[in-house]
Amino acid sequence: MEQEELTTGYIFDIQGFSVHDGPGCRTLIFFKGCSLECAWCSNPEGISFYPEPLYRNSKCTLDEHCINACKHGAISIAKNETCDHLNFRRDICAKCNTYDCASACCSDALKIGGYKVSVDDLYNRIHRDRQYWGEGGGITLTGGEPFAQPEFAFNFLKHCYEAYIHTAVETCGNVAWSHYKKALPYIDWIFFDLKTLDESRGDLLTYSRSPSARPHDLLSASPPDRLSGYTPISNILENARRIAQEFPGRLIFRLPVIPGFNDDAENINNTASFIRSTGRKEVNLLPLHHLGREKYNLLDKQYYTNNFNIPANGNLENIAQQFKSLGITCYIGSETPF
Ligand code: SF4
Ligand code: SF4
Repeated sequence: MEQEELTTGYIFDIQGFSVHDGPGCRTLIFFKGCSLECAWCSNPEGISFYPEPLYRNSKCTLDEHCINACKHGAISIAKNETCDHLNFRRDICAKCNTYDCASACCSDALKIGGYKVSVDDLYNRIHRDRQYWGEGGGITLTGGEPFAQPEFAFNFLKHCYEAYIHTAVETCGNVAWSHYKKALPYIDWIFFDLKTLDESRGDLLTYSRSPSARPHDLLSASPPDRLSGYTPISNILENARRIAQEFPGRLIFRLPVIPGFNDDAENINNTASFIRSTGRKEVNLLPLHHLGREKYNLLDKQYYTNNFNIPANGNLENIAQQFKSLGITCYIGSETPF
């Protein structure tokens, strides 16, 4: 493995002063790349492994500065009856490393989602926040899926842990066990997503997976073809069991509540039984929201979850009661006590 791959990676955001993803005040680091592509994902710019153009048509003056700046011929103007706009050859952009288009745009219509950073530079950046974390605060890796870049995530976690920084990770569960195993000694808390236990519904977790997604050793040396009916649920559950056994820190399962997909009594029942079988007992409900919808437009992607309703408070309370009656401590939204 190249040294650069061990010590550099791609992220798309850093947010300070978060109080929802771990104890105290935290700095969140959003990693690029995910082995899933849930139809409701609120961070679609975290799915692709590489930086990509975010294009806001409403601010574009069509002055063509970006078209002239791009050395790869990846941009064209699409004529439309109502309004012309730019088209990006995103397969070409995925191989770009100059991103001249964005620096040529003076209208705030074009940005690049994601950038490359080294472990050292990222550490120096988050370290500036340390004075604000207070007792118990620290960093949380999220995304995307932090372990989509396993060596980068491992090296960054180790660096922080050895500097006595509290480390938390939010993970989708669908990575090779070896990536978790190596990193567990350097993690204090884990938020582990359990979206459904029903294999027959697993397609919605890879719903809009692009055929141009980067082949990667997320799952094994020979990953199954995720485009031909592969559903990752058994891998996710096996990882959850093993983390519950081998990880001494706090493990909180997270259930995004998607009405009509996973909020039925059977799935809640099965999820509660599964959590109990791992020996852990905490779940955090994350109600569906549509705040990420606009970002799909910027990426020229379809938002498949438009017609899904946001769960009503009463529905969330009912689910929480169901978990509690089955012996699982359940927190709604940001109510998780840290
Ligand atoms: S990201 Fe690179 S390839 Fe894509 S439009 Fe911009 S300059 Fe061209
Ligand atoms: S440079 Fe900016 S404003 Fe001009 S055409 Fe490109 S995206 Fe639109």
